[in-house]
Amino acid sequence: MKALIVIDYTNDFVTGKLPCGDPAIAIEKPIVRLVEQFLASGDEVVMAVDLHREEDPYHPETKLFPPHNIEGTEGRRLYGDLHSLYKHHEEEIYWMDKTRYSAFCGTDLDIRFRARGITELHLVGVCTDICVLHTAVDGYNNGYSLHIHEDAVASFNEAGHVWALGHFRHTLGARLWRNGSLQQPE
Ligand code: ZN
Repeated sequence: MKALIVIDYTNDFVTGKLPCGDPAIAIEKPIVRLVEQFLASGDEVVMAVDLHREEDPYHPETKLFPPHNIEGTEGRRLYGDLHSLYKHHEEEIYWMDKTRYSAFCGTDLDIRFRARGITELHLVGVCTDICVLHTAVDGYNNGYSLHIHEDAVASFNEAGHVWALGHFRHTLGARLWRNGSLQQPE
């Protein structure tokens, strides 16, 4: 069994308070297409969405980044067509608040996947070298096989994006996909 984890694809991370900008806008269609495919095949789809409270003195990101993905704001809404797709399939998609970079940190994701016999994770969203990376590392450490859709991940940092793709493949043993096709090892 497999699961698609859509990481932090919200207004704030695409065009809002902590934007990846054009590279993130460019992955909207590939993400929507993958969500539709996973729903059609009855596979698990998770929206892993950063959650912050205003001026939280205890959160480590408060010192590192401007306020983003604040509870109840438009900035925390899913970006573009993903929002309407989610609204149409709210019953089938697992919305999961997360408060750290990794979707596994402090959440029930691992126990949920184990209960469903899920062993294969497909990761998309932003940022390639922050939340996607940390989720991939935890997925690797928890024994999942990793699949990264390189046309459906993005970062504000192009060098970090490229580095993370190499790390996924060479250090975490991930398979990379593009346009729905597996990229064969060189
Ligand atoms: Zn955050």
